[in-house]
Amino acid sequence: SRVIFSGIQPTGTPHLGNFLGALQNWVRLQEDSQPEDVLIYSIVGWHSLTLPQNPHALAVARREMLAALLAIGLDPKRVIIFHQDDNPHHTDLSWVFNCITPVGKLRRMTTWKARLATSRNAKDESEVDESMLNTGLFTYPVLQAADILLYKATHVPVGEDQKQHIELARDIGDNFNRTFRDLFPLPAYIATPTRRVLSLKDPTSKMSKSSPDISSRILLTDSEKEIRTKIRSAVTDSITGVTYDPATRPGTSNLLSILGACTNEEPAVVAKRFESKGHGDLKADVADAVVALLERPRTEFERLRGEEAYITRIAKEGVEKAMVRSGATMREVRHSVGLR
Ligand code: ATP
Repeated sequence: SRVIFSGIQPTGTPHLGNFLGALQNWVRLQEDSQPEDVLIYSIVGWHSLTLPQNPHALAVARREMLAALLAIGLDPKRVIIFHQDDNPHHTDLSWVFNCITPVGKLRRMTTWKARLATSRNAKDESEVDESMLNTGLFTYPVLQAADILLYKATHVPVGEDQKQHIELARDIGDNFNRTFRDLFPLPAYIATPTRRVLSLKDPTSKMSKSSPDISSRILLTDSEKEIRTKIRSAVTDSITGVTYDPATRPGTSNLLSILGACTNEEPAVVAKRFESKGHGDLKADVADAVVALLERPRTEFERLRGEEAYITRIAKEGVEKAMVRSGATMREVRHSVGLR
């Protein structure tokens, strides 16, 4: 039997990248799961504090993320959905892991290196300055390892941007097992068919909740009109015709891979259909496909976000189920390290 764990930060409305790169797969795993499998999906509030958040906006986004997870089709009778910050075991285990994780390992995380680079616009790693960045941002992957291992997860479906963090979680679990006792199975990364959805405005970076440019991402809540406008204004290139070539044509290739994700085809195969057509035709088809894909989640989300009492009840039931499992692990951990 499998234990599947994954998380999403309540940092804003989920976007097409979250949906194609992660959330859609969460639903697929629910549909394909066996009765003995355990699926645990967490809204990771503690992680969102690693960047400055407006407290009021965070409180709204936190509740709405739960509504969004239900809207995409996750069923709280079949999967455990809960707020990480409702369960204190996450920070408990993360402290234990901090104490067995070398600083050098965290310095090698590409997410950390990217933060450093943008923090100073540094030309190379040697001139970056860590003193301005907070410790939470640095130990973020340790908390993520705790999220995963707390439930003895065997499989972790996340986007490609998180792959290195899963490798770190394996490392930390292995380190614990060898230092104390064999407690944690080492979790495997589950790749999603769509690896990375890129920003519509800067196709060299990923589509992201935290980009200030709202037209760079398509939200789960966008109307048909908004979706069409954003896709029409997506940055492509000035090369005639349509070909799939991520290295030299990232914008065009991103649109092809979005369309391929909607139609279940390889982007290169999609490109063949547009051989004798232009960017306008491609964008029109991408817009149609995305509108159709997000139609149901959007309507459901609009309905559910107003159901406050229901959302609160689901969160409470979810964390109770989560804590039965995490509590058992924490008793073993405490016993192993001598803090029984
Ligand atoms: P931010 O963009 O603000 O850094 P995020 O959008 O990456 O946040 P997370 O909560 O960190 O959101 O990630 C939720 C899930 O969505 C993760 O599994 C992550 O790998 C996936 N994901 C995020 N952005 C993309 C993207 N552009 N393409 C594919 N998957 C993505």
